[in-house]
Amino acid sequence: MAPYTDGTASSNSEANEDQGVKPSGIRVIIVGAGFAGLTAAIECTRKGHSCLVLESYKTTNAQLGDIISFGSNSSRIFQRWPGINEKLTPICHTSKCLKYKTWDGEDIYTQWWGTEEENFGKRYNGHRGEIHSIIFDHAVSQGVEIRLGQQVTEYFENEHEAGVVSNGERIVGDVVLGADGVRSKARQLVLGYDDKPKPSGYAIYRAWLSSEDLAKNALTKDLVIHGDTHTGWLGPDIHFLAASIKNGKEFSWVFTHKDTRDVDEGWSEPGDVDDACRILEGWDPAVHAMVRMTPPEKLVDWKLVYRDPLPTWISPKARTALIGDAAHPFLPTSIQGASQAMEDGACLAVCLELAGKDHVDDALRAFEKIRYDRVRRIQKTGETTRDQWHKADFDNLKKNPEAIKLKREEWVLNHDAESHAYKVYPEVISSLRG
Ligand SMILES: Cc1cc2nc3c(=O)[nH]c(=O)nc-3n(C[C@H](O)[C@H](O)[C@H](O)COP(=O)(O)OP(=O)(O)OC[C@H]3O[C@@H](n4cnc5c(N)ncnc54)[C@H](O)[C@@H]3O)c2cc1C
Repeated sequence: MAPYTDGTASSNSEANEDQGVKPSGIRVIIVGAGFAGLTAAIECTRKGHSCLVLESYKTTNAQLGDIISFGSNSSRIFQRWPGINEKLTPICHTSKCLKYKTWDGEDIYTQWWGTEEENFGKRYNGHRGEIHSIIFDHAVSQGVEIRLGQQVTEYFENEHEAGVVSNGERIVGDVVLGADGVRSKARQLVLGYDDKPKPSGYAIYRAWLSSEDLAKNALTKDLVIHGDTHTGWLGPDIHFLAASIKNGKEFSWVFTHKDTRDVDEGWSEPGDVDDACRILEGWDPAVHAMVRMTPPEKLVDWKLVYRDPLPTWISPKARTALIGDAAHPFLPTSIQGASQAMEDGACLAVCLELAGKDHVDDALRAFEKIRYDRVRRIQKTGETTRDQWHKADFDNLKKNPEAIKLKREEWVLNHDAESHAYKVYPEVISSLRG
Protein backbone atom coordinates (compact mmCIF):
# COMPACT_ATOMS: atom_id res chain seq x y z
CA MET A 1 0.00 0.00 0.00
CA ALA A 2 1.40 3.39 -0.99
CA PRO A 3 1.82 5.87 1.85
CA TYR A 4 0.01 9.21 1.94
CA THR A 5 2.45 11.74 0.55
CA ASP A 6 3.13 13.23 3.97
CA GLY A 7 5.16 10.08 4.48
CA THR A 8 2.87 8.51 7.08
CA ALA A 9 1.95 5.02 5.92
CA SER A 10 -1.57 4.14 6.94
CA SER A 11 -1.76 1.25 9.34
CA ASN A 12 -5.19 -0.20 8.65
CA SER A 13 -4.29 -1.88 5.38
CA GLU A 14 -1.83 -4.03 7.31
CA ALA A 15 -4.38 -4.79 10.05
CA ASN A 16 -6.83 -5.86 7.38
CA GLU A 17 -4.35 -8.07 5.57
CA ASP A 18 -3.99 -9.93 8.89
CA GLN A 19 -7.77 -10.45 8.90
CA GLY A 20 -7.74 -11.79 5.33
CA VAL A 21 -9.19 -8.71 3.58
CA LYS A 22 -7.41 -8.04 0.30
CA PRO A 23 -6.11 -4.43 0.20
CA SER A 24 -7.74 -2.44 -2.61
CA GLY A 25 -4.91 0.08 -2.77
CA ILE A 26 -7.44 2.94 -2.46
CA ARG A 27 -6.32 5.69 -0.05
CA VAL A 28 -9.32 7.44 1.51
CA ILE A 29 -8.98 10.71 3.43
CA ILE A 30 -12.00 11.41 5.63
CA VAL A 31 -12.58 14.85 7.15
CA GLY A 32 -14.67 14.61 10.33
CA ALA A 33 -15.06 11.82 12.86
CA GLY A 34 -18.82 12.10 13.42
CA PHE A 35 -21.03 9.11 12.60
CA ALA A 36 -20.69 9.73 8.84
CA GLY A 37 -16.88 9.81 8.96
CA LEU A 38 -16.45 6.92 11.40
CA THR A 39 -18.89 4.68 9.52
CA ALA A 40 -17.19 5.42 6.21
CA ALA A 41 -13.81 4.63 7.80
CA ILE A 42 -14.96 1.35 9.35
CA GLU A 43 -16.82 0.22 6.23
CA CYS A 44 -13.93 1.20 3.92
CA THR A 45 -11.56 -0.75 6.18
CA ARG A 46 -13.87 -3.78 5.93
CA LYS A 47 -13.49 -3.58 2.14
CA GLY A 48 -9.69 -3.27 2.21
CA HIS A 49 -9.38 0.48 1.54
CA SER A 50 -6.87 2.45 3.58
CA CYS A 51 -8.35 5.29 5.69
CA LEU A 52 -7.04 8.37 7.39
CA VAL A 53 -9.56 10.37 9.47
CA LEU A 54 -8.88 14.03 10.35
CA GLU A 55 -10.98 15.52 13.16
CA SER A 56 -10.84 19.03 14.58
CA TYR A 57 -11.89 18.08 18.14
CA LYS A 58 -8.87 17.43 20.33
CA THR A 59 -10.59 14.66 22.32
CA THR A 60 -13.46 12.25 21.60
CA ASN A 61 -15.83 14.39 23.74
CA ALA A 62 -17.84 11.56 25.30
CA GLN A 63 -19.90 14.12 27.23
CA LEU A 64 -21.08 16.09 24.19
CA GLY A 65 -24.65 15.85 22.94
CA ASP A 66 -27.73 14.12 24.28
CA ILE A 67 -30.29 11.78 22.70
CA ILE A 68 -29.61 10.41 19.23
CA SER A 69 -31.53 7.75 17.31
CA PHE A 70 -30.42 5.01 14.96
CA GLY A 71 -33.24 3.26 13.09
CA SER A 72 -33.11 -0.41 12.14
CA ASN A 73 -31.66 0.56 8.75
CA SER A 74 -28.46 1.85 10.38
CA SER A 75 -28.50 -0.53 13.36
CA ARG A 76 -28.06 -3.22 10.70
CA ILE A 77 -24.70 -1.60 9.89
CA PHE A 78 -23.67 -1.50 13.58
CA GLN A 79 -24.57 -5.17 13.95
CA ARG A 80 -22.01 -6.17 11.33
CA TRP A 81 -19.25 -4.76 13.54
CA PRO A 82 -18.04 -7.34 16.08
CA GLY A 83 -18.94 -6.59 19.71
CA ILE A 84 -20.90 -3.37 19.01
CA ASN A 85 -24.41 -4.68 19.73
CA GLU A 86 -23.19 -6.00 23.10
CA LYS A 87 -21.79 -2.58 23.99
CA LEU A 88 -24.74 -0.49 22.74
CA THR A 89 -27.59 -2.57 24.15
CA PRO A 90 -27.04 -1.80 27.87
CA ILE A 91 -26.83 1.98 27.31
CA CYS A 92 -29.79 2.35 24.93
CA HIS A 93 -33.47 3.08 25.48
CA THR A 94 -35.83 0.08 25.61
CA SER A 95 -39.48 1.19 26.04
CA LYS A 96 -42.23 -0.86 24.39
CA CYS A 97 -44.37 2.10 23.33
CA LEU A 98 -44.63 5.83 22.76
CA LYS A 99 -47.44 7.51 24.72
CA TYR A 100 -48.91 10.66 23.24
CA LYS A 101 -50.63 13.37 25.29
CA THR A 102 -52.16 16.73 24.51
CA TRP A 103 -50.13 19.77 25.60
CA ASP A 104 -52.18 20.04 28.78
CA GLY A 105 -51.58 16.43 29.74
CA GLU A 106 -54.57 14.42 28.51
CA ASP A 107 -53.75 10.95 27.16
CA ILE A 108 -54.44 10.67 23.41
CA TYR A 109 -52.90 7.49 22.08
CA THR A 110 -50.30 4.79 22.70
CA GLN A 111 -48.21 3.53 19.80
CA TRP A 112 -46.92 0.05 20.64
CA TRP A 113 -43.68 -1.23 19.13
CA GLY A 114 -45.05 -4.70 18.38
CA THR A 115 -44.19 -7.44 15.95
CA GLU A 116 -44.14 -5.13 12.94
CA GLU A 117 -41.44 -2.98 14.57
CA GLU A 118 -39.48 -6.03 15.72
CA ASN A 119 -39.52 -7.32 12.16
CA PHE A 120 -37.76 -4.16 10.99
CA GLY A 121 -34.96 -5.04 13.41
CA LYS A 122 -33.33 -3.55 16.45
CA ARG A 123 -32.80 0.20 16.85
CA TYR A 124 -30.51 2.08 19.18
CA ASN A 125 -31.51 5.34 20.93
CA GLY A 126 -29.07 6.66 23.48
CA HIS A 127 -26.59 9.33 24.48
CA ARG A 128 -24.76 10.69 21.44
CA GLY A 129 -21.45 11.06 23.27
CA GLU A 130 -21.53 7.55 24.77
CA ILE A 131 -22.45 5.85 21.49
CA HIS A 132 -19.89 7.94 19.63
CA SER A 133 -17.10 6.86 22.02
CA ILE A 134 -17.91 3.18 21.45
CA ILE A 135 -17.84 3.58 17.67
CA PHE A 136 -14.70 5.72 17.78
CA ASP A 137 -12.89 3.03 19.84
CA HIS A 138 -14.12 0.36 17.43
CA ALA A 139 -12.70 2.26 14.45
CA VAL A 140 -9.34 2.50 16.20
CA SER A 141 -9.46 -1.22 17.09
CA GLN A 142 -9.94 -2.00 13.39
CA GLY A 143 -6.74 -0.11 12.58
CA VAL A 144 -8.31 3.13 11.30
CA GLU A 145 -5.86 5.99 11.78
CA ILE A 146 -7.63 8.95 13.39
CA ARG A 147 -5.76 12.20 13.93
CA LEU A 148 -7.43 14.54 16.43
CA GLY A 149 -6.87 18.31 16.69
CA GLN A 150 -6.71 18.62 12.88
CA GLN A 151 -8.28 21.67 11.25
CA VAL A 152 -8.81 21.04 7.55
CA THR A 153 -8.72 24.37 5.73
CA GLU A 154 -8.31 23.48 2.04
CA TYR A 155 -9.46 20.85 -0.42
CA PHE A 156 -7.87 20.15 -3.81
CA GLU A 157 -8.05 17.56 -6.57
CA ASN A 158 -6.92 16.69 -10.07
CA GLU A 159 -7.78 13.78 -12.42
CA HIS A 160 -5.50 11.40 -10.49
CA GLU A 161 -5.75 12.28 -6.81
CA ALA A 162 -7.40 14.42 -4.15
CA GLY A 163 -6.25 15.90 -0.90
CA VAL A 164 -6.55 18.43 1.88
CA VAL A 165 -4.47 20.87 3.84
CA SER A 166 -4.78 20.12 7.53
CA ASN A 167 -2.98 22.14 10.21
CA GLY A 168 -0.91 23.52 7.35
CA GLU A 169 0.16 20.05 6.11
CA ARG A 170 -0.68 18.84 2.59
CA ILE A 171 -2.11 15.31 2.63
CA VAL A 172 -2.90 13.43 -0.58
CA GLY A 173 -4.99 10.33 -1.27
CA ASP A 174 -7.12 8.83 -4.04
CA VAL A 175 -10.39 10.14 -2.68
CA VAL A 176 -11.53 12.65 -0.04
CA LEU A 177 -14.79 12.32 1.90
CA GLY A 178 -16.08 15.58 3.39
CA ALA A 179 -17.85 14.30 6.51
CA ASP A 180 -17.46 17.67 8.18
CA GLY A 181 -21.03 18.26 9.31
CA VAL A 182 -23.67 20.88 8.81
CA ARG A 183 -21.12 23.74 8.51
CA SER A 184 -19.05 21.84 5.94
CA LYS A 185 -16.08 23.56 4.28
CA ALA A 186 -15.78 20.71 1.77
CA ARG A 187 -19.08 21.88 0.32
CA GLN A 188 -17.30 24.89 -1.18
CA LEU A 189 -15.07 22.71 -3.39
CA VAL A 190 -17.99 20.55 -4.44
CA LEU A 191 -20.38 23.39 -5.25
CA GLY A 192 -17.94 26.10 -6.28
CA TYR A 193 -19.70 28.58 -3.98
CA ASP A 194 -20.41 29.11 -0.29
CA ASP A 195 -23.79 27.61 0.55
CA LYS A 196 -25.30 29.59 3.43
CA PRO A 197 -27.63 27.94 5.92
CA LYS A 198 -31.15 29.31 6.36
CA PRO A 199 -33.15 29.49 9.56
CA SER A 200 -35.73 26.68 9.56
CA GLY A 201 -38.03 28.77 11.75
CA TYR A 202 -37.60 26.29 14.61
CA ALA A 203 -35.19 25.57 17.45
CA ILE A 204 -35.02 22.83 20.07
CA TYR A 205 -34.47 23.03 23.79
CA ARG A 206 -32.76 19.81 24.83
CA ALA A 207 -31.41 18.27 28.02
CA TRP A 208 -29.94 15.06 29.43
CA LEU A 209 -29.98 14.60 33.22
CA SER A 210 -30.02 12.12 36.06
CA SER A 211 -33.53 10.85 36.98
CA GLU A 212 -32.92 11.16 40.71
CA ASP A 213 -35.02 14.30 41.31
CA LEU A 214 -37.70 13.26 38.82
CA ALA A 215 -38.19 10.00 40.76
CA LYS A 216 -39.01 12.01 43.92
CA ASN A 217 -41.56 14.32 42.29
CA ALA A 218 -45.22 13.21 42.16
CA LEU A 219 -45.69 14.83 38.72
CA THR A 220 -42.77 13.04 37.06
CA LYS A 221 -41.99 9.86 39.00
CA ASP A 222 -44.07 7.60 36.72
CA LEU A 223 -41.81 8.56 33.84
CA VAL A 224 -38.76 7.00 35.52
CA ILE A 225 -39.57 4.51 38.30
CA HIS A 226 -40.95 1.76 36.02
CA GLY A 227 -37.87 1.47 33.81
CA ASP A 228 -37.65 3.11 30.39
CA THR A 229 -40.63 5.14 29.15
CA HIS A 230 -41.21 7.37 26.12
CA THR A 231 -43.84 10.13 26.12
CA GLY A 232 -44.74 12.90 23.69
CA TRP A 233 -46.84 16.03 24.40
CA LEU A 234 -48.26 17.71 21.29
CA GLY A 235 -49.53 21.25 20.89
CA PRO A 236 -49.79 23.97 18.24
CA ASP A 237 -46.29 24.52 16.82
CA ILE A 238 -44.55 22.71 19.69
CA HIS A 239 -43.84 19.07 20.47
CA PHE A 240 -42.17 17.87 23.67
CA LEU A 241 -40.61 14.38 23.86
CA ALA A 242 -39.31 12.78 27.05
CA ALA A 243 -37.50 9.45 27.40
CA SER A 244 -35.94 7.61 30.33
CA ILE A 245 -32.91 5.44 29.63
CA LYS A 246 -30.79 2.80 31.41
CA ASN A 247 -33.78 1.32 33.24
CA GLY A 248 -35.08 4.78 34.08
CA LYS A 249 -31.85 6.01 35.73
CA GLU A 250 -31.17 8.77 33.19
CA PHE A 251 -33.54 11.10 31.39
CA SER A 252 -33.68 13.12 28.21
CA TRP A 253 -36.21 15.66 27.05
CA VAL A 254 -36.37 17.79 23.91
CA PHE A 255 -38.91 20.28 22.66
CA THR A 256 -39.15 21.86 19.26
CA HIS A 257 -40.59 25.36 19.11
CA LYS A 258 -40.87 28.30 16.74
CA ASP A 259 -37.73 30.44 16.58
CA THR A 260 -37.24 33.54 14.48
CA ARG A 261 -33.72 34.62 15.46
CA ASP A 262 -31.13 34.83 12.71
CA VAL A 263 -28.87 31.78 12.27
CA ASP A 264 -25.77 33.96 12.51
CA GLU A 265 -26.58 34.48 16.18
CA GLY A 266 -25.18 30.99 16.81
CA TRP A 267 -26.70 27.57 16.29
CA SER A 268 -26.35 26.04 19.72
CA GLU A 269 -26.49 28.14 22.86
CA PRO A 270 -26.96 27.52 26.57
CA GLY A 271 -30.72 27.37 27.20
CA ASP A 272 -32.62 29.45 29.75
CA VAL A 273 -35.09 27.60 31.99
CA ASP A 274 -37.38 30.64 32.39
CA ASP A 275 -37.49 31.26 28.62
CA ALA A 276 -38.31 27.59 28.02
CA CYS A 277 -41.13 27.69 30.58
CA ARG A 278 -42.53 30.88 29.06
CA ILE A 279 -42.85 29.15 25.68
CA LEU A 280 -44.66 26.27 27.43
CA GLU A 281 -47.22 28.51 29.16
CA GLY A 282 -50.46 26.56 29.75
CA TRP A 283 -48.76 23.18 29.21
CA ASP A 284 -48.95 20.13 31.47
CA PRO A 285 -47.45 20.86 34.95
CA ALA A 286 -45.40 17.63 34.51
CA VAL A 287 -43.64 19.20 31.53
CA HIS A 288 -42.86 22.33 33.56
CA ALA A 289 -41.56 20.16 36.41
CA MET A 290 -39.13 18.40 34.02
CA VAL A 291 -37.81 21.70 32.70
CA ARG A 292 -37.53 23.25 36.19
CA MET A 293 -35.64 20.18 37.50
CA THR A 294 -33.04 20.45 34.73
CA PRO A 295 -29.72 21.85 35.99
CA PRO A 296 -29.17 25.08 33.96
CA GLU A 297 -25.78 23.85 32.67
CA LYS A 298 -27.51 20.80 31.13
CA LEU A 299 -29.98 22.84 29.05
CA VAL A 300 -29.16 23.61 25.42
CA ASP A 301 -31.05 25.75 22.91
CA TRP A 302 -30.19 24.19 19.54
CA LYS A 303 -31.11 26.07 16.41
CA LEU A 304 -32.40 23.99 13.53
CA VAL A 305 -30.83 25.22 10.34
CA TYR A 306 -32.14 24.35 6.94
CA ARG A 307 -30.29 24.03 3.66
CA ASP A 308 -31.77 23.72 0.23
CA PRO A 309 -30.94 20.28 -1.19
CA LEU A 310 -27.52 20.48 -2.86
CA PRO A 311 -27.55 20.00 -6.64
CA THR A 312 -24.65 17.54 -6.25
CA TRP A 313 -22.57 15.88 -3.51
CA ILE A 314 -19.47 15.27 -5.63
CA SER A 315 -16.69 17.55 -6.83
CA PRO A 316 -16.10 18.46 -10.51
CA LYS A 317 -13.41 15.77 -10.94
CA ALA A 318 -15.39 13.26 -8.86
CA ARG A 319 -12.56 12.68 -6.38
CA THR A 320 -14.24 14.35 -3.39
CA ALA A 321 -17.68 13.44 -2.02
CA LEU A 322 -19.79 15.02 0.71
CA ILE A 323 -21.39 12.57 3.12
CA GLY A 324 -23.64 12.86 6.19
CA ASP A 325 -24.84 16.27 7.35
CA ALA A 326 -22.32 17.96 5.03
CA ALA A 327 -24.37 16.66 2.09
CA HIS A 328 -27.84 16.54 3.62
CA PRO A 329 -28.80 17.95 7.05
CA PHE A 330 -31.99 16.47 8.50
CA LEU A 331 -34.70 17.83 10.78
CA PRO A 332 -34.84 15.76 14.00
CA THR A 333 -38.46 14.80 13.26
CA SER A 334 -37.19 12.58 10.42
CA ILE A 335 -35.36 10.54 13.15
CA GLN A 336 -33.00 9.57 10.32
CA GLY A 337 -30.11 12.09 10.25
CA ALA A 338 -27.52 9.80 11.85
CA SER A 339 -28.88 6.73 10.05
CA GLN A 340 -28.56 8.36 6.64
CA ALA A 341 -25.02 9.50 7.50
CA MET A 342 -24.18 5.85 8.22
CA GLU A 343 -25.87 4.54 5.06
CA ASP A 344 -23.64 6.93 3.04
CA GLY A 345 -20.50 5.31 4.46
CA ALA A 346 -21.70 1.75 3.86
CA CYS A 347 -22.72 2.53 0.27
CA LEU A 348 -19.51 4.40 -0.59
CA ALA A 349 -17.26 1.62 0.69
CA VAL A 350 -19.01 -0.86 -1.64
CA CYS A 351 -18.89 1.51 -4.64
CA LEU A 352 -15.13 2.02 -4.15
CA GLU A 353 -14.62 -1.74 -3.86
CA LEU A 354 -16.54 -2.48 -7.05
CA ALA A 355 -15.03 0.39 -9.05
CA GLY A 356 -11.42 -0.26 -8.01
CA LYS A 357 -8.51 2.15 -7.61
CA ASP A 358 -8.41 3.17 -11.27
CA HIS A 359 -12.08 4.19 -11.32
CA VAL A 360 -12.62 6.12 -8.10
CA ASP A 361 -14.55 8.76 -10.08
CA ASP A 362 -17.04 6.08 -11.20
CA ALA A 363 -17.46 5.01 -7.58
CA LEU A 364 -18.33 8.53 -6.44
CA ARG A 365 -20.78 9.12 -9.29
CA ALA A 366 -22.47 5.80 -8.60
CA PHE A 367 -22.63 6.59 -4.86
CA GLU A 368 -24.47 9.83 -5.57
CA LYS A 369 -26.85 8.20 -8.01
CA ILE A 370 -27.67 5.36 -5.60
CA ARG A 371 -28.22 7.61 -2.58
CA TYR A 372 -29.60 10.95 -3.79
CA ASP A 373 -33.31 10.29 -4.28
CA ARG A 374 -33.64 8.05 -1.23
CA VAL A 375 -32.04 10.70 1.00
CA ARG A 376 -34.19 13.49 -0.42
CA ARG A 377 -37.36 11.49 0.14
CA ILE A 378 -36.38 10.75 3.75
CA GLN A 379 -35.41 14.40 4.37
CA LYS A 380 -38.98 15.39 3.48
CA THR A 381 -40.38 13.08 6.19
CA GLY A 382 -38.82 15.47 8.75
CA GLU A 383 -41.15 18.22 7.56
CA THR A 384 -44.22 16.00 7.23
CA THR A 385 -43.88 14.52 10.74
CA ARG A 386 -43.30 17.96 12.25
CA ASP A 387 -46.41 19.32 10.51
CA GLN A 388 -48.41 16.19 11.40
CA TRP A 389 -47.69 16.95 15.08
CA HIS A 390 -47.61 20.74 15.13
CA LYS A 391 -50.59 21.34 12.88
CA ALA A 392 -52.79 18.47 14.02
CA ASP A 393 -56.51 19.06 14.29
CA PHE A 394 -56.22 19.49 18.06
CA ASP A 395 -60.00 19.92 18.59
CA ASN A 396 -60.65 16.48 17.09
CA LEU A 397 -57.61 14.50 18.20
CA LYS A 398 -59.67 12.29 20.49
CA LYS A 399 -61.88 11.23 17.56
CA ASN A 400 -58.96 10.35 15.33
CA PRO A 401 -55.94 9.71 17.60
CA GLU A 402 -54.14 7.53 15.03
CA ALA A 403 -53.57 10.68 12.94
CA ILE A 404 -50.58 11.56 15.14
CA LYS A 405 -48.96 8.14 14.99
CA LEU A 406 -45.31 8.16 13.93
CA LYS A 407 -45.03 6.59 10.47
CA ARG A 408 -42.84 3.48 10.41
CA GLU A 409 -42.14 2.80 6.75
CA GLU A 410 -40.70 -0.36 5.34
CA TRP A 411 -38.78 1.32 2.50
CA VAL A 412 -36.91 3.40 5.10
CA LEU A 413 -36.40 0.89 7.91
CA ASN A 414 -35.91 -2.38 6.01
CA HIS A 415 -33.19 -0.93 3.81
CA ASP A 416 -29.74 -2.54 3.88
CA ALA A 417 -27.31 0.00 2.40
CA GLU A 418 -24.50 -2.49 1.88
CA SER A 419 -26.42 -5.23 0.09
CA HIS A 420 -28.44 -2.66 -1.86
CA ALA A 421 -25.22 -1.08 -3.18
CA TYR A 422 -23.88 -4.50 -4.28
CA LYS A 423 -27.16 -5.21 -6.02
CA VAL A 424 -27.66 -1.99 -7.97
CA TYR A 425 -24.06 -0.91 -8.69
CA PRO A 426 -23.65 -2.70 -12.07
CA GLU A 427 -26.91 -1.27 -13.41
CA VAL A 428 -26.13 2.23 -12.09
CA ILE A 429 -22.67 2.21 -13.66
CA SER A 430 -23.98 1.15 -17.05
CA SER A 431 -26.66 3.87 -16.90
CA LEU A 432 -23.97 6.48 -16.01
CA ARG A 433 -21.84 5.37 -18.95
CA GLY A 434 -24.90 5.73 -21.16
C1 LIG B 1 -20.54 17.64 19.25
C2 LIG B 1 -21.78 17.19 18.56
C3 LIG B 1 -22.91 16.86 19.33
C4 LIG B 1 -24.08 16.43 18.69
N1 LIG B 1 -25.17 16.09 19.46
C5 LIG B 1 -26.26 15.57 18.89
C6 LIG B 1 -27.35 15.10 19.67
O1 LIG B 1 -27.33 15.17 20.89
N2 LIG B 1 -28.43 14.55 19.05
C7 LIG B 1 -28.49 14.46 17.68
O2 LIG B 1 -29.47 13.94 17.15
N3 LIG B 1 -27.48 14.91 16.90
C8 LIG B 1 -26.37 15.45 17.48
N4 LIG B 1 -25.33 15.89 16.69
C9 LIG B 1 -25.46 15.83 15.22
C10 LIG B 1 -25.38 14.41 14.71
O3 LIG B 1 -24.25 13.76 15.22
C11 LIG B 1 -25.36 14.46 13.19
O4 LIG B 1 -26.50 15.17 12.75
C12 LIG B 1 -25.46 13.10 12.51
O5 LIG B 1 -24.97 12.07 13.30
C13 LIG B 1 -24.68 13.14 11.18
O6 LIG B 1 -23.29 13.07 11.49
P1 LIG B 1 -22.13 13.71 10.63
O7 LIG B 1 -20.95 12.83 10.90
O8 LIG B 1 -22.55 13.94 9.24
O9 LIG B 1 -21.90 15.16 11.28
P2 LIG B 1 -21.33 15.58 12.70
O10 LIG B 1 -21.77 14.66 13.75
O11 LIG B 1 -21.65 17.02 12.86
O12 LIG B 1 -19.73 15.41 12.54
C14 LIG B 1 -18.92 16.28 11.78
C15 LIG B 1 -17.50 16.23 12.34
O13 LIG B 1 -16.63 16.95 11.48
C16 LIG B 1 -15.72 17.68 12.27
N5 LIG B 1 -15.23 18.80 11.47
C17 LIG B 1 -15.96 19.84 10.99
N6 LIG B 1 -15.18 20.68 10.28
C18 LIG B 1 -13.93 20.15 10.31
C19 LIG B 1 -12.67 20.58 9.77
N7 LIG B 1 -12.57 21.69 9.03
N8 LIG B 1 -11.56 19.81 9.99
C20 LIG B 1 -11.66 18.65 10.72
N9 LIG B 1 -12.83 18.23 11.27
C21 LIG B 1 -13.95 18.96 11.07
C22 LIG B 1 -16.58 18.10 13.47
O14 LIG B 1 -15.78 18.45 14.60
C23 LIG B 1 -17.41 16.87 13.72
O15 LIG B 1 -16.84 15.97 14.63
C24 LIG B 1 -24.13 16.34 17.27
C25 LIG B 1 -23.00 16.68 16.51
C26 LIG B 1 -21.83 17.08 17.14
C27 LIG B 1 -20.60 17.42 16.30
